[in-house]
Amino acid sequence: MRPLSYSQISLYQTCPLCYKLQYIDRLETKYKGYFSFGTTMHACAEYFFKVKVPPPPPLEELLQFYDKNWLSAGYESAEEEANYKVYGREMLAKFWEIHQPGFRMPIAVEWMFYINVEGIKLRGFIDRVDKLDSGGLAIVDYKTDRELFTNDYLARNLQLTLYQMAVAQSWFLPVERLTLYHFRTNTSCSCPPRDEARIEAARRLVLEVAESIAAGRFPAIEGERCPCDFPEHCPYYQHKFVPEAKEAGISGEVAMAGAVERYVSLQSQIKELQLELDELKRMLADFCRVEGLNRVYGAEHALTYKLVEKTGFSEEEVRALLEPAGLLGRVLSLDSAKLKELISDEAVAKDIRNKLEALKQVVASYPQFWPRRLVEEE
Ligand code: SF4
Repeated sequence: MRPLSYSQISLYQTCPLCYKLQYIDRLETKYKGYFSFGTTMHACAEYFFKVKVPPPPPLEELLQFYDKNWLSAGYESAEEEANYKVYGREMLAKFWEIHQPGFRMPIAVEWMFYINVEGIKLRGFIDRVDKLDSGGLAIVDYKTDRELFTNDYLARNLQLTLYQMAVAQSWFLPVERLTLYHFRTNTSCSCPPRDEARIEAARRLVLEVAESIAAGRFPAIEGERCPCDFPEHCPYYQHKFVPEAKEAGISGEVAMAGAVERYVSLQSQIKELQLELDELKRMLADFCRVEGLNRVYGAEHALTYKLVEKTGFSEEEVRALLEPAGLLGRVLSLDSAKLKELISDEAVAKDIRNKLEALKQVVASYPQFWPRRLVEEE
């Protein structure tokens, strides 16, 4: 198996099919402005810190490097690109202002690593590794995301965990700080290193992803980033990209496009009718109750009214009666919703929750459709 990187693991977690199309089938991805922007800003930070001896390059030189290494690909318009370019210069000037005074040489910049996680090779590049006064190490990764990172995000970030594993394996020095550097605000968002339990969880995750890839499990999982760069290969979108498919019949003379619209229209009529029916039912029941009637008459039909009572049992009372007699087991049945709750309850031992999760299996399947308005989507 080829080495895995954090981006690949993260993409597999987001959508296994998208991972396959990008990394196994090697379909070409589209250029995006924010990727180009991120690449340029990373290159500038590397240029600033990767000097053979201090001091770092003066601001003028750094900005010249920025201009020379600006990537134009992927921006939606010349105006968008121009705005980003001005924005990037401002960010970089601030970056220089913050990091130039008291400049310290990192011990690694754009450091490439290969590590072995129980037979699975992991590779990646770490933007920067600093040596702290304490003798420990600090890992820094630059990000051009819009939002600042929350403590919760930092604590859950898999990339930082994998980087800590890589650095600890190579330097044999303690990692003392993990940082995502938020370029847009020039803010270091830092957190303490991961403990052994978090490292173990990350190791398990790497192995699970590697095993799923090796087993060829590539379902499409729809999410926020959809449609990705390969909608014509995705079961959620490919139908839209084959015009003749929409005209094709699904049975007899029913055309696919017509069937979809008819389905949605019937479903919404049923919903409206159900609302009307519920309201009418409520009014008729109120009338019968107030007037003390058991039957009301229309022109051609009559409706007989009866207040139907639903009976049930108090769990506590039933338990108190049946448990001592050893009969409780005969009336217990599994409640899927409660089992799900148990699986996600952190107060329950992890191995029990994992074993319970592993017992989950498909017990029935039935077709279901969720309508979506295409106009809104576009
Ligand atoms: S469009 Fe969405 S669901 Fe389909 S392959 Fe791309 S990411 Fe996955």
